[in-house]
Amino acid sequence: MSETVTCIICPNSCRITVEEKNGVKTIAGNQCKRGIVFAQNEITNPTRSFTTTVRTTSKTLPYLPVKTNGEIPKSELFNLVAKLNKITVKGKVKCGDVVLQDFFGVSVVSCIDMTLEY
Ligand code: SF4
Repeated sequence: MSETVTCIICPNSCRITVEEKNGVKTIAGNQCKRGIVFAQNEITNPTRSFTTTVRTTSKTLPYLPVKTNGEIPKSELFNLVAKLNKITVKGKVKCGDVVLQDFFGVSVVSCIDMTLEY
C-alpha cells in the first residue's frame, strides 16, 4: 500500500509518500520531522483548523470572522459549515468569544472585537 500526501505544515509543501510493505512503514519525501507526523496523521485521521465568517445583526459588519480554536476531523468540515450557517451573532463580541461550543471538542471563536454600532 502506498499513499502520497502534500504536507501543509509549511510553505515547502513537500510531497510525502507513505508505503507499507510486510508491516514495515516507509516515509519519504519529507524535508523535516514534522512531515512524518503530518503524513501519519493525514493517512489515519486527517484534521484541519477552519476559518470562515458568520452572519451578524450589525449593519456595518454583517459578517464576523471566526475560527476553530483547535483542529477537527476533516470529514466534519461540511457539518461545521452547516451549523455555522444557522448562527447569527447579536450584540458586541470580543476577540476569542465563543460563537459555537464543543464541536468535536473544539470551539469556534471570534477573530476580532466587534464593537461597531448597530
Ligand atoms: S515536511 Fe517539513 S519542510 Fe516539508 S512541508 Fe512539511 S513541515 Fe515543511
